[in-house]
Amino acid sequence: MKNTTVLISGASIAGPALAYWLSRSGHTVTVVEKAPALRPGGQAVDFKGETHRVVLERMGILREVRRRQTGGTDQVIVDADGRRLAVMPGEFTGGDIEILRGDLAALLYERTEKDCEYVFGDSITSLTDTEGGVHVTFERGAPRTFDLVVGADGIHSNVRRLAFGPESDHVRFLGHYYALADLGTGAGNVMYNEPGRMVALGGPKSPAFFVFASEPLDDDRDDVERHKRLLADAYRGMGWRVPELVARLPEARELYLDSISRVEIDRYARGRVVLLGDAAYGNTLGGFGTGLAVVGAYVLAGELAAAGGDHRTAFRAYEEAFRGYAKVARQGSAGPFLAPATWGRIRMRNWVFKRRFLLRAMLRLTDRFATDIRLKDYPALTGTSAAP
Ligand SMILES: Cc1cc2nc3c(=O)[nH]c(=O)nc-3n(C[C@H](O)[C@H](O)[C@H](O)COP(=O)(O)OP(=O)(O)OC[C@H]3O[C@@H](n4cnc5c(N)ncnc54)[C@H](O)[C@@H]3O)c2cc1C
Repeated sequence: MKNTTVLISGASIAGPALAYWLSRSGHTVTVVEKAPALRPGGQAVDFKGETHRVVLERMGILREVRRRQTGGTDQVIVDADGRRLAVMPGEFTGGDIEILRGDLAALLYERTEKDCEYVFGDSITSLTDTEGGVHVTFERGAPRTFDLVVGADGIHSNVRRLAFGPESDHVRFLGHYYALADLGTGAGNVMYNEPGRMVALGGPKSPAFFVFASEPLDDDRDDVERHKRLLADAYRGMGWRVPELVARLPEARELYLDSISRVEIDRYARGRVVLLGDAAYGNTLGGFGTGLAVVGAYVLAGELAAAGGDHRTAFRAYEEAFRGYAKVARQGSAGPFLAPATWGRIRMRNWVFKRRFLLRAMLRLTDRFATDIRLKDYPALTGTSAAP
């Protein structure tokens, strides 16, 4: 086997999922994560359809994912007086299995921490791709050389920037922002819209969840106090319980605000560096990110094993196998669906949720996207000849 030392940037979902498969197939894996520890938090993420289920099963975690699942919860869409207008069913937002992102990340970490080296609180500062390996420097740690480097560091990928060029070349802003705030609302699972703005309260972990249309904001992604002010400005003058929420924003202990954006990149690999998960095919809140990350990790590791570690052959096969499957992430945006631009579009969206046949058709469509790949059997990963 060639190319056995692999550095993965990012310890959320894609990174540890790949670490799992690579360590099983004889690689020496290091995972570097910018955060000082495994990041908790995030709302629920979900898996849908046969393909996701088969990959989780082959990883041996399906039962544990089911055990930790949140169970999809219906979301009641209300008017300004709190009267029920429609219900967004849990099966629509939660797929077949819904789990908190932080719980899934913790599970993947538990399954890999003994066999892989995890380095928290550090980040890659340069990558020099040579014939014999990639020379890597870090913000804190000493420089090292790895055979391969994987960018599994999310939609704002650091590895993508270093190896493929600036984020502005590869990430398109889709006209909305979202924010998650820990406002301890204690409310049921409710959602309220005015044109271009949405607030949802309750749901897994009861965060307050905001989506709003906006011009690109000149935001420093780490400046939480500025984010609180931006959010308060965006929600000024809105009805329902929003004035109370805005008034409590300064007290929020946690607040995360980011753009709704989509990665648009044609190649996942350059030399010995390859992208995986949201870094390669992210579409914020698009509903497919976690499934794509887990299936992508399986295919990338499988192709590396099948090619005896020859990265050129393996990366080409991964791109060919995956580009079609990941095309769902190149379409659509959650923004106009969650925060429609006009009262008419809000009514239209709510109307769809009252029509079971339309809902069933949408669920069939998402199932088709989620299963639109012929999963190969990679005996070097699974140790068996499993049927797809
Ligand atoms: C804290 C958090 C909350 C989220 N909440 C939701 C949610 O509520 N709903 C939803 O649908 N999706 C959410 N996501 C995104 C979701 O996890 C992904 O769409 C999907 O699971 C694919 O995961 P990924 O591992 O490719 O990317 P991500 O989950 O985005 O993980 C990227 C990882 O890379 C790390 N990282 C970033 N920069 C560097 C760097 N320079 N060096 C090293 N590591 C770096 C990040 O800290 C993170 O751990 C969230 C992600 C995070 C990190």
